[in-house]
Amino acid sequence: PIGLIDGKLIDLSENIVPMEDRGHQFGDGVYEVTRVYNGYCFALKQHIDRLYRSLRELKIPAVYTTEELTGFHELLIKESGITDGAVYLQITRGVAPRAHGFPDSVVPRLTMSIRPMSSVPDKNKLEGAKALLIPDERWLRCDIKSLNLLGNVLGKQKAKEAGCFEGVQVRDEYVTEGTSSNFFVVKDDVVWTHPDCNLILKGVTRTLLIEKLAPAAGVLVVEKKFNTAFVKAADEAFLSGTTTEITPLVIIDGKPVGNGAVGPITRKLQEAYWALIDRECNR
Ligand code: PLP
Repeated sequence: PIGLIDGKLIDLSENIVPMEDRGHQFGDGVYEVTRVYNGYCFALKQHIDRLYRSLRELKIPAVYTTEELTGFHELLIKESGITDGAVYLQITRGVAPRAHGFPDSVVPRLTMSIRPMSSVPDKNKLEGAKALLIPDERWLRCDIKSLNLLGNVLGKQKAKEAGCFEGVQVRDEYVTEGTSSNFFVVKDDVVWTHPDCNLILKGVTRTLLIEKLAPAAGVLVVEKKFNTAFVKAADEAFLSGTTTEITPLVIIDGKPVGNGAVGPITRKLQEAYWALIDRECNR
């Protein structure tokens, strides 16, 4: 498996994380995951724009241009020969003697890797998945795509142990998002999702769905808070995310969503998402 450190190709097996990389010691950094379909990086510009926002919020200097970052993605695709996969990118504040406050002078460190991933929809995407409602135990800046993912990791594990694909998080009665995906319900033909604020990550897939796919399909989306009782009374539910794409949810907390089958609005949006990928990635 190959990767890049500060733009230079490396073999991932040879790579050693410096003991005092702040990403390693504090989770002091940000990341992005981008899907590669047919040799093209899907929605790369949107991912790079969000990366810059995350860096700004953490006051980590942006030392690479959009053109350079795009080039690194293309280089990894070319060198690996991977046509269908995922690129992982992270930028940490850099390497400095361990102390909580920012070091005076430190150069941010960029690491990237690519791995193959099938573009053939799995059972969850085709037949729908199970989710578990869990408490949202994360910090209050979930809008930053930071390396601090313990809340997400523990939440996903809880869901996994209950035989579920995703944990859908609940904060103060209101449903926020999945542990690695955004969450939506459909009620009376209207799609509901948590508003964009500090409590959720503004997913690239979520934005494409709200701004492009739903309007083109004539589906109304509202960004409004809703509680768990609303979820239990929903007609349909689904997740969105870069690797999750649009995954229908047919069981939440052990009970069927609506009639227990993948809902028509979910399927329509899912097919529109795949059609968009086909167009953008020349499939
Ligand atoms: N919410 C969380 C917490 C995530 O980790 C992710 C993606 O990893 C998403 C939402 C979906 O974001 P995107 O569509 O940009 O992948």
